Amino acid sequence: MADVAAALPPMDVASRVDRLRPAVAEAGCDALLVTNLTNIRYLTGFTGSSGLLLVRPDDLLFVSDGRYARQAADQLAAAGVDARIEISGTGQRELVQAGAAGVARLGLEATAVTWAQQRRYADEWFADAELVPTEGLVEGLRIVKDAGEVARIEAAAHIADAALADVRALLLDGPTEEAFGLALDTAIRRLGAEGTSFETIVASGPNGAKPHHRPGSRRIEVGDLVVLDFGALVDGYCSDMTRTVMVGDPSPTQARMLEVVTASQEAGVEAVRAGAPTADVDAACRAVIADAGWADAFVHGTGHGVGLDIHEDPRVAATATATLAPGHVVTVEPGVYLPEHGGVRVEDTVVVTDEGCRRLTLAPKAPLVVA
Ligand code: ZN
Ligand code: ZN
Repeated sequence: MADVAAALPPMDVASRVDRLRPAVAEAGCDALLVTNLTNIRYLTGFTGSSGLLLVRPDDLLFVSDGRYARQAADQLAAAGVDARIEISGTGQRELVQAGAAGVARLGLEATAVTWAQQRRYADEWFADAELVPTEGLVEGLRIVKDAGEVARIEAAAHIADAALADVRALLLDGPTEEAFGLALDTAIRRLGAEGTSFETIVASGPNGAKPHHRPGSRRIEVGDLVVLDFGALVDGYCSDMTRTVMVGDPSPTQARMLEVVTASQEAGVEAVRAGAPTADVDAACRAVIADAGWADAFVHGTGHGVGLDIHEDPRVAATATATLAPGHVVTVEPGVYLPEHGGVRVEDTVVVTDEGCRRLTLAPKAPLVVA
């Protein structure tokens, strides 16, 4: 198996907490308790399943349990993150309480804290502090990827491209959706990814009209459109790509669907540039599909950000308010779903540049017909 991660350029993890601190102050907080593990990974390089990070203006405290003593020390050191690491076998409350002594207004990540946790924090952990719900402070940094992050997403994308090339011809053997999905997932692992970035979608024939169909026991046959939506995971970073393959010759309607969705997707990618509202990208995709008379058959948003999470900011949709900036990584994935004919979706992951954007997913879209 290829050691993909070893060849990747470094990421600038160590500077991230310093860039977060002004946002914490701006949110009216003296400190932020980071509990979202993905955000903790982003800020420290720690990949374990248990950790708390307390960010103060002049102090950084990382708390975990005994399972992660060694790993936390190694990973934070490797990332160059200067934090106090405290490990507790019995409970992290006292450690975090001590770390938060004197904090009057403590920010919590509102979307990562359950109601039960919030009550515990308010009544037991931080009874003397005012708890402040915050949203999107770390995510606001994560939205712009550095070169190391883009390299990871790109490496994941290239693995997904290669995996599809490896297994595409199997579609002619009449596999079940499940069997084809397994072949694709196995190829992704064999090519050096840590895993898939989400559960692979294989949606054939009538199942293709369900945008997020789970692969089932249906056999793929000649005459099917097959929607393949999948991605690879490299060093925690996701790729996301959809290709729709026609098995055998398309009917006139299927051929038209492929043509229209491909054109819609190209129009969307062309609309991606720094300074463009993401709603404009959505509108560019939707206009092409509406012109073909299928406005009602494009039943979802156009895309989303991709990074450590498969779905993150910015949203690309008619109701979205985000504006694209260099370093944003987004998908463009319009689709048309017609129960009698199947589904067609085409998706690329692209990185926004000053001039426009660069595609990270490069698997060919044509010829789409496997015969
Ligand atoms: Zn996708
Ligand atoms: Zn997607």
